[in-house]
Amino acid sequence: MIQIKNPEQIAEMRKAGRITAEALLIAQENIREGVSTYQIDKLVREHIEKCGAKPSFLNYGGFPASACISLNDEVIHGIPSKTRILQEGDIVKVDVGAFYHGFHGDSARTFPVGRISDEAAKLIEVTEKSFFEALAQVKPGNRIGDVGHAVDSYVKKYGFSTVKRFIGHGVGHALHEQPDVPNYGTPGRGTRLCTGMTIAIEPMINVGTDEVVQLNDGWTVKTADGKLSAHYENTVAVLPDGVMILTKA
Ligand code: MG
Ligand code: MG
Repeated sequence: MIQIKNPEQIAEMRKAGRITAEALLIAQENIREGVSTYQIDKLVREHIEKCGAKPSFLNYGGFPASACISLNDEVIHGIPSKTRILQEGDIVKVDVGAFYHGFHGDSARTFPVGRISDEAAKLIEVTEKSFFEALAQVKPGNRIGDVGHAVDSYVKKYGFSTVKRFIGHGVGHALHEQPDVPNYGTPGRGTRLCTGMTIAIEPMINVGTDEVVQLNDGWTVKTADGKLSAHYENTVAVLPDGVMILTKA
């Protein structure tokens, strides 16, 4: 069932979203060669807890950290580690959630470490822009298929592919709620968007194949062909006259 939020609840979600966004900014400020993914996770956790919130991902389904940190060909759900040291040329996906006053925020970015390849830079740019293509479709009366189609059709123009096996989702009291928000779809099809829906739109875009594999750590998802992947996510609310990004600093 889709949980519709009233304006007061959306205002509370905005607070969770702000904390989430601030944690991502702190991650961004600290991403450089020589830093471990464990250190980034620690900074994220410290900020969320300092704000009186809880890291949404910590112990979620047994996940052992506060941020998912995934490098290069890793798509999502990378586990922070003291032995994963960032190198010049890496691209780093940081996915963060904060739970505050009963609601979650969920947001992800892909950051470069120093100088990166032209291909990696293009992938990051197109992935971010595909989110905003999707966002332009979010308004009452449009459908989930319009949102997903916007992502998929945009990235295809650049020869990139959309991950199908993992998708966006409703967000609220629970980190993952209805509806499903795939990054592909058919215009005019799927769940109708209505005022008070809160969803995470999160394109996961690959340079090569859209196929992914899961590592035997039980979490990390990587591209099947070993090529790069990027991720960009915000939690947004459907408003009577359009949309608001909740995960903004
Ligand atoms: Mg996320
Ligand atoms: Mg999400």
